[in-house]
Amino acid sequence: MTALYDNHNRPITYLRLAVTDRCNLRCFYCMPEEGIRYIPKKELISFEEIERLVTLLASLGISKVRLTGGEPFVRTDLMKLIRTIVNIDGINDVHLTTNGVLTAPHVAELKQLGIASVNLSLDTLNKERFHQITRRDEFEPVMNTLNLLLKHEIPVKINAVVMDGKNIDDIIPLIELAKDHPVDIRFIEEMPFNGEGNHYPTLLWTHHKIKQYIQEHYPLLYKIQDGDFSTSYNYRIPNYAGSIGIIAAFSRTFCGTCNRIRVTAQGELKTCLYDDGVLNLKELMRSGKDDDALLESLLKAFKSRPKDGFEAESKRKNHSSVSESMSTIGG
Ligand code: SAM
Repeated sequence: MTALYDNHNRPITYLRLAVTDRCNLRCFYCMPEEGIRYIPKKELISFEEIERLVTLLASLGISKVRLTGGEPFVRTDLMKLIRTIVNIDGINDVHLTTNGVLTAPHVAELKQLGIASVNLSLDTLNKERFHQITRRDEFEPVMNTLNLLLKHEIPVKINAVVMDGKNIDDIIPLIELAKDHPVDIRFIEEMPFNGEGNHYPTLLWTHHKIKQYIQEHYPLLYKIQDGDFSTSYNYRIPNYAGSIGIIAAFSRTFCGTCNRIRVTAQGELKTCLYDDGVLNLKELMRSGKDDDALLESLLKAFKSRPKDGFEAESKRKNHSSVSESMSTIGG
């Protein structure tokens, strides 16, 4: 296996794989409440196609996989897929991003399978606000998942999107979770991927403002070293068990070290979150292309990656603006 580099000399080691576009929540910043057109099931990338693809990508140098969606646990037999992926040669780390609604019954097996970490999306610790944001009454199952993940000592990151006028009062209570628990609380800039196309003319809660807000409440907040390909600016508070991360997802400050690619639930390759698909892998596989042909197409795509999310956005087909739901992309 040779290391895989893109045309900007960035190593590519990390695949984010959306296993479904369906979700059991309706977070307003991600999806409209109604009228969502889900992909027909036969158009979803199949487990066999995923296995083939991940095996090929592992042979190129991808060693980390994150399963996401939509809500991964909405896909029938997700655990079967996870059992397969953890056993693929070259895949060293398998991670999950989940909303936690259906996750609890599987936590013990996730531990047993050696899942490297779970990102749990949780924008508030207030039950009513949870309902307002997600349009579903599922706060308890999510908290149950969080408690089980902690009990099984699976590393947990909590992802909270920071939404002006909605959950600013939740920032401090979420951070307080890190006082006694070894969780990373990560605050994400809200992006326009909401399935509707509307966004703020100017994003108010930028990573700078989030940091400033946290610092005002925790003057002793201090910066820690970010990991090599980290998308978050990371901080600690003295004597807190967990850490704080801030993700400039809309400001896009981390593209220079981006090591990730995405495959959507329809089997489309994205070499940047902000592109609109650069290669239909599912079609290539279904049209009978052999492994060599697939590898050649993949390598070509990796050698034409945009340098950052702004370039990717400007190159979208028909110059369409970013408006699709995160659930179709794989958050
Ligand atoms: N269903 C899973 C979950 O909730 O974690 C995985 C998919 S979800 C699309 C992945 C992440 O994307 C979640 O943490 C969610 O908060 C985030 N997300 C969705 N829409 C977003 C937006 N418009 N801006 C920022 N983050 C967003």
